[in-house]
Amino acid sequence: MADFPEVRGQQAAHSNVPAIAEQAVSELNLILVGPPGAGKGTQAEKLTEDFGLPYYATGNILRDAVAQGTELGKKAKEYMDAGDLVPDEVIIGVILEALASDEAAEGFLLDGFPRTVPQADALGAALQDVGRKISAVLLIDVPDEVIVKRLSGRRVSRAGRVYHVDFDPPKQEGRCDLDGSELIQRDDDKPETIRKRLAVYHDQTEPLVDYYEGRNLLRRFDGTRTPTEVHDHIRATVATLRLEDEL
Ligand code: AMP
Repeated sequence: MADFPEVRGQQAAHSNVPAIAEQAVSELNLILVGPPGAGKGTQAEKLTEDFGLPYYATGNILRDAVAQGTELGKKAKEYMDAGDLVPDEVIIGVILEALASDEAAEGFLLDGFPRTVPQADALGAALQDVGRKISAVLLIDVPDEVIVKRLSGRRVSRAGRVYHVDFDPPKQEGRCDLDGSELIQRDDDKPETIRKRLAVYHDQTEPLVDYYEGRNLLRRFDGTRTPTEVHDHIRATVATLRLEDEL
């Protein structure tokens, strides 16, 4: 957090307008919300290209930390393995530090954070402290039964190519089209773990829908549409937001 004023100060030095006024027209601070399997990662990939934003996905950050055996990874592992959320105090500092970095000074795309009301409060307060604000919260809505079908049918190759037994099957059952390796089901895509992750989502993350709706920041998207349709809709919405902001 200590970095925030410094970053803003550097920007203001290149401009004749005050930092706050400048960021009001140029920043795009976006949050993706939705249940596991809603397609947030797929959309994030496209949106970061569309708008040139740095992307912070707490799930990826935590999985990397676990793989590397860092202090953060050690703290997070047992919660992640159980399908629970890691404690707020573990994750909040990580994200606030990322958002205070130079690369996030003109905007960011968050995926998987905030995931609880205390996390949302901490984010809002930290941004407000430095005169920044959230531009929009993008909710990708998908009913539970669709999620369970999507995730339980997901299979991955050794190299990480993703298939679906019904929607995107390989040419030869159980084998990757590209390298012939055996397709496997990820542990957290097993039906019982999916149900646990969905329960945690409804219990702890869904309250954020009302939270951000009450702040007039929420935009809803129908995540049962094709990825291209969802992307077109989000891109148009964000482009409009930015235009409105610049007027
Ligand atoms: P994801 O890939 O977003 O589904 O995240 C995988 C796991 O990382 C979750 O099941 C949680 O254990 C943990 N995690 C990711 N983001 C957060 C967060 N904002 N707060 C707490 N735990 C998180």
